[in-house]
Amino acid sequence: MSVVRDTGKRALVPPFEEEHEELRATIRRWVESEIVPEQGEWEERREFPRELFDRAAELGFLGLKYPEELGGQGGDMIHDAVWAEELAAAGMCGGVGAGLGAHTGIATPPVFNFGTDDQHERFLRPAIRGTKIAALGITEPGAGSDVASIRTKAERVDGGWVVNGSKTFITNGVRADFLVCAVKTTSEGGHHGISFLILESDMPGYEVTRKLEKLGWHSSDTGELAFIDVEVPDANLLGDENEGFKLIMANFQWERLLMALGAVGAMDWCLRKTIAYAQEREAFGRSIGSFQAIRHKIAEMSVNLEAGRAMTYSALRLLTSGQDALREVTAAKLFTQRAAVDAADDAVQVHGGYGYMREYEVERALRDARLGPIGGGTDEVMKEILGRGFGL
Ligand SMILES: Cc1cc2nc3c(=O)[nH]c(=O)nc-3n(C[C@H](O)[C@H](O)[C@H](O)COP(=O)(O)OP(=O)(O)OC[C@H]3O[C@@H](n4cnc5c(N)ncnc54)[C@H](O)[C@@H]3O)c2cc1C
Repeated sequence: MSVVRDTGKRALVPPFEEEHEELRATIRRWVESEIVPEQGEWEERREFPRELFDRAAELGFLGLKYPEELGGQGGDMIHDAVWAEELAAAGMCGGVGAGLGAHTGIATPPVFNFGTDDQHERFLRPAIRGTKIAALGITEPGAGSDVASIRTKAERVDGGWVVNGSKTFITNGVRADFLVCAVKTTSEGGHHGISFLILESDMPGYEVTRKLEKLGWHSSDTGELAFIDVEVPDANLLGDENEGFKLIMANFQWERLLMALGAVGAMDWCLRKTIAYAQEREAFGRSIGSFQAIRHKIAEMSVNLEAGRAMTYSALRLLTSGQDALREVTAAKLFTQRAAVDAADDAVQVHGGYGYMREYEVERALRDARLGPIGGGTDEVMKEILGRGFGL
């Protein structure tokens, strides 16, 4: 059940520098010592402890890319990229990665990028400290890929809005203290009629209607939410009124790149786990790694990993140097999510019957990986973006 240990040292690949590799080693030690031994139980319980946010905050992980004035570490997107990749590479299950990642990677960035000073104080600072958990609420029962068709409605009243509607599949949705929520602020909605409001879970009319049971990501709480006449003050409008679509699009690029980094980490873990097993397991009097078919499968896994890593790092370099990276991020997201499912499936196959067993963890990796081609924009939507980019 071991994983091939890497030395923790790797060649410096731009945009990563020495300090990023030090962070990588710190994250790996934390995940291996404090999370991996416990996560099986959290998966069973369908929730990881809330205190994990406190611990991650204490270690500075919830504020890596935020300024020190707000309680962050003063790093940048590359530090955040290390965080996303290494959580998965170190063997963290998808559920814990999703819960922490939704907080740091998709729900707090819009507050930082579009929020007022007051919103930074009320929401971002406590989120970095781990005392408030954040979630991002875009998807609705009737609107997933077609983001522009959301129906949750915010009606203007004196001093703010009254919100009615529902959201589903919301990561951290059950215990989030605040929800960065997409709402319709014109009767037509659509590209010029969506805004973002920060909804607080203790606002009257804000209800968690269901905790969802899922194929994978068991230890993350995925919620369904309902809003009945929730009164939201003006001070909770995030960004400009009716300009929410811009926020969604800006957020998607980073979310998709973080997903690609997570998939690269997961593929790396699957490969090391599979090599270790192939070295240990014997059949017909020899190690199964000596069979050509197994060797070749492992070789193919390594090629997919390197291809995914190269595409993802290339997109990361473009995005972090301020260039348009829509095509590269989209391609990296598309390629890596399916490749990670294949890597986990290959890992299960090489483990034989043991691969199907809980204790060997690769079955969990396969279940966790399956969300990749769906969440944050499906494979089909990624292909649409790429195809249209060629003017077709
Ligand atoms: C565990 C989990 C966690 C999630 N976390 C969050 C979260 O924190 N916040 C949040 O807002 N959302 C979250 N989501 C939602 C996720 O982003 C959506 O599931 C995803 O965007 C797809 O939307 P949908 O499920 O409604 O599928 P649909 O949009 O209904 O798609 C169904 C099928 O139709 C295809 N399809 C749709 N449109 C087209 C098209 N134009 N061309 C070709 N094919 C198309 C899709 O590719 C797919 O195969 C989460 C989902 C899950 C399962």
